[in-house]
Amino acid sequence: MKVPFLDLGPQHRSLRTEALAALAATYDATRFCLGKDVEDFEKNFATTLGYPRALGMNSGTAPLHVACMLAGFGPGDEVITAPFTFISSAWGINYVGAKPVFADIEEGTFNLDPAKLAAAVTPRTKGIIVVHLFGQPARMDEIMAVAKKHNLFVIEDCAQAVGAKYRGTPVGLLGDAGTFSFYPTKNLGGCGEGGAFVSRREELHTRARHIRVHGSDRRYYHDIVGGNFRMDGFQGALLNVKLPHLAAWTARRQAIAGRYLTGIKLAGVRLPEQPVYGQSVFHQFTIRHPRRDALREHLTKHEIGTDLIYPVPLHLQKCYASLGQGPGTFPVAEKSAATCVSLPIFPELADAQVEHVIASINSFA
Ligand SMILES: *Cc1c(COP(=O)(O)O)cnc(C)c1O
Repeated sequence: MKVPFLDLGPQHRSLRTEALAALAATYDATRFCLGKDVEDFEKNFATTLGYPRALGMNSGTAPLHVACMLAGFGPGDEVITAPFTFISSAWGINYVGAKPVFADIEEGTFNLDPAKLAAAVTPRTKGIIVVHLFGQPARMDEIMAVAKKHNLFVIEDCAQAVGAKYRGTPVGLLGDAGTFSFYPTKNLGGCGEGGAFVSRREELHTRARHIRVHGSDRRYYHDIVGGNFRMDGFQGALLNVKLPHLAAWTARRQAIAGRYLTGIKLAGVRLPEQPVYGQSVFHQFTIRHPRRDALREHLTKHEIGTDLIYPVPLHLQKCYASLGQGPGTFPVAEKSAATCVSLPIFPELADAQVEHVIASINSFA
């Protein structure tokens, strides 16, 4: 039985008629950049997921960049983030001329370790970018306590955690700003590039809205330095078609994860921890095993697709060599990169496919 790591086909085939009709309407109305479809999506996204308001942007990297501009990070400032994440979590820090500083993650959840975070704070630290990796909310109470103590601006990278809550609060509302990605492989994926910005602070939302359109409120008047971070109309239209399905897709991801958590019995395997403060929306289901490469080969033989997310932590990427943090600097992140393997977990997987993954893992010797 074949089990692809990810197949975007079934979901898009099932929505084809509705999606193409929505695109046609947007096309006919020539609503190409922002416009009604994006405004509708912003309202629907906010209402459905519990945000006071939301701004559609043109990638998941865009709101991270905008949030770093809003925070006022700049040359000489340090911003702390996790070394075990997608590279984009850190890019915004570089874009505004500040310095990324890493703090190691926890073993259980792959998320920022609050004690390591506290230890990384210096007099130059101005902010934190918290990543809710793989859909699992990070330990926000402890992280916000560090932020309050040192007066730090907190950005939550929710690219993988759409729909997740921390102790009942939607992720992105705990810190100063939250960011989402609608890259096609994300839990809520567009048909192209997309992202969103949220904030519980209305003044930040207003400034983000101006930054999104070249720092302007009125056309051709630019009160602040901005950029082009606009979502296109087609993405707004498509995301409006997809959003009503998100809750069911998330429930299906959680059900598959539940099967993996109870079914996988292989000795030496480490399953992701399930903390009480926030249930994961399982963008990924990532396990660790000391013989990861052999386990992966075994699964390939059983026609099961897997992926290494992530094979190289950020501090060991060439682009950050100048930070001078070599191997051994962040042992938990490095061990995670060396032993992790992500399993198939998209909503359209059949139960039989999930059982095949479990049986195949358990038969690894
Ligand atoms: C996908 C992702 C991003 C960036 O999103 P893009 O839409 O590719 O720009 C940022 N952070 C994390 C953790 C991601 O997974």
